[in-house]
Amino acid sequence: MSRELNKVAVTIPPSSTMAINAKANQMIADGENILKFGIGEPDFNTPENVKAAGKKAIDDNRSKYTPAAGIPALKNAIIEKLKRENGLEYTPKEVIVSNGGKHSLYNIMIALLNPGDEVIIPIPAWISYKEQVTLAGGKSVFVETDEAFKISAEKVAESVSERTKAIIINSPSNPTGATIEESELRAIAELAVEKGFYIISDEVYEKFVYGGRKFISTASLSEEVKELTLTCNAVSKTYAMTGWRIGYTAGNEAVIKAMGNVQSHSTSNPCSIAQYAAIEAFNGQQNSVGEMIKQFDDRRQYVFKHLNEIEGIKLVEPEGAFYAFPDVSGVFNEKVKGSVEFCDLMLQEAKVALVPGKDFGSDNHIRFSYASSMDDIKEGIERISEAVGMIGK
Ligand code: GLU
Repeated sequence: MSRELNKVAVTIPPSSTMAINAKANQMIADGENILKFGIGEPDFNTPENVKAAGKKAIDDNRSKYTPAAGIPALKNAIIEKLKRENGLEYTPKEVIVSNGGKHSLYNIMIALLNPGDEVIIPIPAWISYKEQVTLAGGKSVFVETDEAFKISAEKVAESVSERTKAIIINSPSNPTGATIEESELRAIAELAVEKGFYIISDEVYEKFVYGGRKFISTASLSEEVKELTLTCNAVSKTYAMTGWRIGYTAGNEAVIKAMGNVQSHSTSNPCSIAQYAAIEAFNGQQNSVGEMIKQFDDRRQYVFKHLNEIEGIKLVEPEGAFYAFPDVSGVFNEKVKGSVEFCDLMLQEAKVALVPGKDFGSDNHIRFSYASSMDDIKEGIERISEAVGMIGK
């Protein structure tokens, strides 16, 4: 008999994006004037038509269990979206709806990985990928990107081994805002086909590409690539629906079936009400999406210009998502030695919430989420500038 807890569960750190958001919210509740650039969450409200569909679902008593992998009407709306926007053809058995993009990714890891299987993760990368790989018994293999956060297919090729089970592609990227070059994506996809490993394509920021850049859905490269790509997406960012928790995966039927088995024993169906709202998100008018993206682009340009004006801070132009990932190592000194101390100082002194780059794989950087109002961004950058000026004084 032993009261010892599971070793992975006790050693795994909690999600710092969630923790920083909770801390900032607590400080706000305590009366502090905190500006939040921590969590990646659109500051917009869920569109009215989607909210109305959710309310209608409650009134229509859509409150019972649904099929564990999602209601047929939502699967069809997802299938139509993938056809219309990404040129991809899927059947309902190749689609599963989960409790948000994070849950979709977790189910993929559980369905794919045997103990010791390797997953290649280009870094800097979203904090939860590596922890999910660990939770599923796998091993993360990190591949550094270049100074503009671009992924090199050559470097990826060098990290492939007998145990490689998958690679995670997240373009546009959280936390860097970088997009993958088409040539590199094609080369990585060819490598995956040649060696026979999966591509987990986290496309949750697909709509958030700026400056005339074009989003490419990995599975659309060829039929062979599609066969081994798990396309993962959600309504969270595109439709400002983070709290509704609806994510989905499209891919090989056997993998989707395995994910469905796992889901049927862990969470059962995603929230029935949220599923009906998500149908409206996909099928209803899309005006809110374009409006939101325009505003994000304005903020991106402002952040790019003004963060770069602060002495000691260097920012590569973010191409997508709603994150800036500046190098702040130019301001490090005896007191502020890394990104964690930098963010602590900013929270305490400037009352600005940011996420340390260390958690994403680079201690020289911090993540600034510009999914906040332009007024907050302007004031936040002023506060950061002032606090940076104080460091070392
Ligand atoms: N993906 C968002 C972020 O990185 C939401 C929080 C999370 O799930 O980590 O901030």
